[in-house]
This record gives sequence, structure tokens and C-alpha cells, in this order.
Amino acid sequence: MSLVTTRAVVLQTYRYSETSKILRLMTWELGPCSALARGALRPKSRFGGLLEPFVEGEATFFTKDGRDLHTLSDFELVRVRRGLDRSIELFTVASVLCELVMRLAPEHRDIELYRMLTRGLDGLHRKVREGDPACGLEHVWGLVDALGFRPELDRCVGCRRPIGGGSVRFDFAAGGLRCASCGPGGPQLAPGELDALRRLVEGLPAADAGSVGNQGLWLAEFIRHHLAEGATLKSLPFLIRLA
Ligand SMILES: [Zn+2]
Repeated sequence: MSLVTTRAVVLQTYRYSETSKILRLMTWELGPCSALARGALRPKSRFGGLLEPFVEGEATFFTKDGRDLHTLSDFELVRVRRGLDRSIELFTVASVLCELVMRLAPEHRDIELYRMLTRGLDGLHRKVREGDPACGLEHVWGLVDALGFRPELDRCVGCRRPIGGGSVRFDFAAGGLRCASCGPGGPQLAPGELDALRRLVEGLPAADAGSVGNQGLWLAEFIRHHLAEGATLKSLPFLIRLA
């Protein structure tokens, strides 16, 4: 048995017995892992009700070789990111970030992924504080990129010719844009929608902050085809409903 202390983000929590919780964490040192927080649901728990999704802290736990579930001994708060649940849009996007990491992160240390997750959660939290109406889809595209997937937006997925002006379609299964001469495949994008998609994939906030349009749907479809591989991500239907 050994003791590990590492920066960690709470991705999800489950009730375990009357008084304890199981946490799904993304950690700096070990990548994704699970920890049992004994007594976390007791009124006078030393964890003081802090162990909720989006919270980040210095977690200390006992690990045992061959065991997937570690035992949490301490959690020192670094960032709470309070108030994300005041906006259904921001809460949805934050939940998608956490679920993507929980379901798809490689089973080892991945500092780039950890950074993209915390950068995304911080960016969403900033929007809550500043009353920014945009819902932050650029953070999900950033995480999708960090997980190794990025849509092809410069060349047609069929003929490989550069995408210029004119009519294009987003062919989710093929992983990118398809030009008019390469036939059907996915929904057609208006020029403004293509510009907005390019901005989001580059990690830039949408220029028109007030309207998500179909961007949530397209992002969800891309994730479904390339990342989820048949797995059901609970948060994706909520992403589709953003408008
Ligand atoms: Zn083409």
C-alpha cells in the first residue's frame, strides 16, 4: 500500500452505503481513477460536502496494487467553481467535459488532457461570473482535440480538394466537410455556420454569443461517431438541446 498526493478534479460522484461516496477523479499523476471517500455524507465529515463535480483539489489517497478503487484520506480544496449549476447551458457543457474524460481518457497520466479539462472548466466558470451568454462549446472541441480527434475542415473528405466558398456538408461519419461535387453526406452548413464551426474548433468563442444554432448537435454527432464508439454518453442529448 502506498500514499499518493496529486492534483485532482472530481468528475462524478456516487453514493456508496449510507455515509460514503465513490468519486471518479481525473488526477495529474495517475490519470483517471476512483476513490472511496469514507464518511463523506456524514454531517460533520472532514470533507465538508466539498466533493462535488467540477471541484479541484490536492487529493491524498492510499493505493493498493491491483486495486482500482483507492481510499481517499484527504482533499485540500484548490478550486470550487461554484455556480456552474446556475446556467443549464454551462452546466451541460461542463458535464460533457467531465463525462468525456471519465469515459475516454487513457488509463495513465495525461497532463495535456488534464490541462484541457481544467482550462475548460475555468473558462466556463468565468462565463458564469461575467454573465457571458455563450455556452463555451469551444472547450469541448478543445478536449475532443486533446483526445486525438479533430474534424477535417480545410479539405473535402471525399476528393481532398480545399474547401472554398459555396455549399459544404458536415459528414460526421467521414470526420469532416464534404464539398458540393462529392455528393450527399450530412447536413448542409451555411457560410456563417461554417465560420462559427471553424472558430469553435480552433478554441475561439463563438462570434455570435447569443445563438448556438446547430453547433451543439454537430458536436454531439461528431463525438458519437468518433469518440463514443457505441457507448452511450448521458450528457450528449443535453448538448443537442442547446439552442
Ligand atoms: Zn469533394
